[in-house]
Amino acid sequence: MKSVIRKTPKVGFVSLGCPKALVDSERILTRLRAEGYEVAATYRAADLVIVNTCGFIDAAVDESLDAIGEALAENGKVIVTGCLGAQPQKILDKHPQVLKITGPQRYEEVVASVHEYLPPKHEPFLDLIPAQGVKLTPRHYAYLKISEGCNHRCSFCIIPSMRGRLLSRPIGEVLREAEQLVRAGVKEILVISQDTSAYGVDLKYAAQSWRGIERRARFYDLADALGELGVWIRLHYVYPYPHVDKVIDLMAQGRVLPYLDIPFQHASARILKLMKRPAAAEDTLERIAAWRQIVPDITIRSTFIVGFPGETAADFEELLAWLRVAQLDRVGCFEYSPVEGAAANSLRQESVPPEVKRERRERFMELAAEISAQRLKQKIGREMQVLIDRIDGDIAIARSACDAPEIDGNVRIRGARGLTVGQWADVRISNAGAYDLEAKLAG
Ligand code: SF4
Repeated sequence: MKSVIRKTPKVGFVSLGCPKALVDSERILTRLRAEGYEVAATYRAADLVIVNTCGFIDAAVDESLDAIGEALAENGKVIVTGCLGAQPQKILDKHPQVLKITGPQRYEEVVASVHEYLPPKHEPFLDLIPAQGVKLTPRHYAYLKISEGCNHRCSFCIIPSMRGRLLSRPIGEVLREAEQLVRAGVKEILVISQDTSAYGVDLKYAAQSWRGIERRARFYDLADALGELGVWIRLHYVYPYPHVDKVIDLMAQGRVLPYLDIPFQHASARILKLMKRPAAAEDTLERIAAWRQIVPDITIRSTFIVGFPGETAADFEELLAWLRVAQLDRVGCFEYSPVEGAAANSLRQESVPPEVKRERRERFMELAAEISAQRLKQKIGREMQVLIDRIDGDIAIARSACDAPEIDGNVRIRGARGLTVGQWADVRISNAGAYDLEAKLAG
């Protein structure tokens, strides 16, 4: 009997949106690779294309719809998943020919749809999965998603209605995944979720054993346990609840990076209330000052929204004054744009004209750049450990503890011959710009 050799099925993948969506993409790809699928580098080389969409703001919706259109034009067979998948009609209105639409975190459904339109070549062999899963990030850093969903109801955000309430992963599972990542060569773990500091609330902090010790599913316990792994642990999307203070002690002990990503979004109490932000009543300036007392080198990153409905000139000046005192190291700023289905649309507040929003954003970013430049200047002459992300000729592009990948600055090292991607290096800072540093190898 003649055996029939089928060609390996190839899947194209377009991943849009935030790091949380990236983790979803990685999970889908891990599973498909385990089942013998290959990942195609171009639309043409793929047998079908999966588009993982974002639906957070209108601009992201447009970008997602364009990406679906491009995949349809170039390939023709398209499966859509991700946040925008929670609003299928929006997709079908523009692209009725897509094969299937699933919402966020529907890994099983996405994989089942792929099976339907592009059957797998053979049964899964677990050893086809690289030890760390398929990572879309370079292999020396990886995102670790600890929960899905969110229990808050910020008025500008539709994530809870798209992704549901907080659903934490059991602590044993999270720690085992982290351990496996480290074994596979990952040097930096970026902890992500919609609300990292709320981790485990839904599990009633249920304990599980890891390395022979009972660990509770609690933000502090998780950070403490991750600190045992001997790699960089970076905490994202943390809200300034009082219990976060304890994690600052772990930073002082060097167990987790002295880095906190806290989306403050605004500083005016009135606007924060309209936004329905978690921990809005906290005295954030006092907290930041206290954290810097304990860990003077802590890097605080945050994002802000200007031009929220009802934001007056006085509210905006209050935000600028707050930033001047807070001296945040890393800052991003968005002009408010209404999202369909968000509670903020019915606040009955006066909307801020587009040119005012733009001007406020520019003024805010100017001040942020000034602060960043001053803070980076203070690092000149200091020695620090960096992680090499890229080599460009004889320049290595690296990051220090102060820089998360993609969103923060870089450390450029000249005369980097002999350095390799994913390696740690000790450098001395020689120069500073508004966001980036220059360095030479120490010693
Ligand atoms: S904390 Fe607020 S902004 Fe963040 S996901 Fe939850 S509701 Fe949305």
